[in-house]
Amino acid sequence: MTKTALVYIELNNSKIEKVCKEIVSKANELASDIEVNAVVIADKTTIRNSQQDLALLNVKKLFIIEDNIFDSYQCCLFSSVLSAFINKNKPDIFLMGATENGRELAPRTASALNIGLTADCTDISVDESFNLLATRPTYGGKMMATIISETRPNFATIRPGAFKIENTLVNNPEFVYIQPETAGHELLLEVLKCETKQQEEDWTCSDVIIAGGLGLKTKENFEKIYTLCSLINAKPAASRAAVELGWAPSEIQVGQTGNSVSPKLYIALGISGAMQHMTGITNADKIVAVNTDRQAPIMSASDIAIESDAAAVLQSMIEHSGSKQALL
Ligand SMILES: Cc1cc2nc3c(=O)[nH]c(=O)nc-3n(C[C@H](O)[C@H](O)[C@H](O)COP(=O)(O)OP(=O)(O)OC[C@H]3O[C@@H](n4cnc5c(N)ncnc54)[C@H](O)[C@@H]3O)c2cc1C
Repeated sequence: MTKTALVYIELNNSKIEKVCKEIVSKANELASDIEVNAVVIADKTTIRNSQQDLALLNVKKLFIIEDNIFDSYQCCLFSSVLSAFINKNKPDIFLMGATENGRELAPRTASALNIGLTADCTDISVDESFNLLATRPTYGGKMMATIISETRPNFATIRPGAFKIENTLVNNPEFVYIQPETAGHELLLEVLKCETKQQEEDWTCSDVIIAGGLGLKTKENFEKIYTLCSLINAKPAASRAAVELGWAPSEIQVGQTGNSVSPKLYIALGISGAMQHMTGITNADKIVAVNTDRQAPIMSASDIAIESDAAAVLQSMIEHSGSKQALL
């Protein structure tokens, strides 16, 4: 029998949340004979505005649960409609992005279906019986646990940035429109006004990211990362320890409780490479580490390990940075 994975597609201002594309990409790699489908819940205008984007999804079928009642996200309504859909369609695996909405919607949906949920996963695979092996940090991030749920569908939410969007093949999904049963649903929220947040450039996908940690010793040294970044059009990032000392804002923290990044080049200056940091850079193509301790975990995990003083190397890079190409 065909094994199926279903991905929940979240729309934000008529655009597909990037993590949903990442999940679709990974789901297609889970098994050679897997059928990946997707489901979206939205009002007619949003569906019309996002049609082009949706048509590029690499899934077999896209189930569109469409009604004007869905013009704003309402957790109780969405989880009720979604759980009814899943009950009927019975996918083997159900995946959702661990976005703000996803973190709220997933547990309610799991509860409505009376199934387990492995939340905030950083990796997934399947075993020979097509059980989902869902990996996530545990014990305060000190270990990674791989969890196999005993209930079906195997349900997991996935951290944004955990996977790359690999398969560019367009599958031209079959659009299957579904008229939901919305009668009797009481809307608990009335949305009075929506303000669109200014879309900031997604720095986590930059080609070059330069990150600093405690080995830079001072805030002044850390701030030189900004100078280098502006010279070579790179983006700055920080370890949590650097953020906690107030050297950098939390928005640029990389790691388990920060961001996952996928640059072509990640330069780690004075970062030890604790597991919680490394979780955020598994998708970096090349890692260059500068550390005075050759035993630091990041040194063995990097493509180029430079045993040296991080602040001195940073200063030297600023002085020698002719162009970004020189670094790549
Ligand atoms: C639940 C939980 C979640 C966490 N989440 C995150 C997270 O998202 N991101 C994250 O980064 N951390 C996270 N941490 C913290 C993580 O465990 C580490 O404590 C943190 O990453 C260490 O930051 P660091 O490498 O900058 O500092 P340190 O561990 O202090 O390392 C500094 C490094 O600099 C080197 N060094 C010293 N002097 C020099 C010099 N002159 N030149 C070059 N190198 C030098 C040292 O050899 C050392 O390797 C988390 C921890 C927990 C418990």
